[in-house]
Amino acid sequence: MEEYNIKTRVVGVDISNERTTYAIVDIRGNIIAEDSFPTTDFPDVNNFVTALSERIVMLVEANGGYETIRSIGVSSPSASPVSGCIENAANLPWKGMVPLAAMLRDRLGLAVGLSNDAHVSALGEYTFGSAHGMKNFIIISLGIGIGSCFFSEGHEHQGHLGFAGEFGHTCVVESDGRECGCGHKGCLEAYVGAVGIARTARELLAESDAPSIMRDLEKLSPRVVFECCEKGDELAIEVFRRTGYMLGVGLANYASLIDPEAIILTGGISHAGKWLLDPTYESFEEHVFGNLRGKVKILTSKLDDRERDVLGASALAWSVPEYSLFK
Ligand SMILES: [Zn+2]
Repeated sequence: MEEYNIKTRVVGVDISNERTTYAIVDIRGNIIAEDSFPTTDFPDVNNFVTALSERIVMLVEANGGYETIRSIGVSSPSASPVSGCIENAANLPWKGMVPLAAMLRDRLGLAVGLSNDAHVSALGEYTFGSAHGMKNFIIISLGIGIGSCFFSEGHEHQGHLGFAGEFGHTCVVESDGRECGCGHKGCLEAYVGAVGIARTARELLAESDAPSIMRDLEKLSPRVVFECCEKGDELAIEVFRRTGYMLGVGLANYASLIDPEAIILTGGISHAGKWLLDPTYESFEEHVFGNLRGKVKILTSKLDDRERDVLGASALAWSVPEYSLFK
């Protein structure tokens, strides 16, 4: 009789523009072991895949062995779960179409699921975080870029090409809007992303004579503006008021289409607390379709930002059919 080993672990990989983190995660979402290295060390993707594969094998051999691993899940910017490729990633060193799922599968002899960071974050929140038990919800990641993903009736909406949810590039200012990195004008990201928030701060300082600690600072970032808010700086508070107003408009449009139970905010800027959340909620309530008013929860993630994506990638790994070169 053939003997079946039940595999109780997967490997979750989070590729970000700066670092690649990989972890062995068990069936309950416990991180057994993890490590990371700079993504930027590998301008050639073949060398990256070789290094990542070797490191995964080393980590696995030191922690329970290869036979315990069922599959691999990978989160990357600009990755399509439909094509299995990283496609034209703006900030990764590898250009064009990179068939990363197939490359890793061939190297490691295990099934590999690949999806983009917004979808993987949503999967992490759904499986282990604030969205647990919800069927309809939206995840927004607030950082340099503004990503999103939504679940409908318990399933993530990937879209025809696997790129659904480009919330940051929806238009919120139709006339003479700020230029966005994507080439369009008036995108939400140009107002609510990290660069947009710093720009709002500079604009406010230029148009007002009011005293502000921000005037003495060399570099303005969302974190710095937040720290000024905590010290009671009125202009800094106004920066987040304007940011929250724009975010609320965008979220109201989003929610009016999707009718979610909750919107969960993740990413660095979501830690700005009440300075961002209060004006966001106020603007959201003002703009959302009437029947939803007062009924959509706006939450911040309870998961650690660093862990969410490897946990989400581990959930993705469980969702792909098992595969072995040797069967
Ligand atoms: Zn844009």
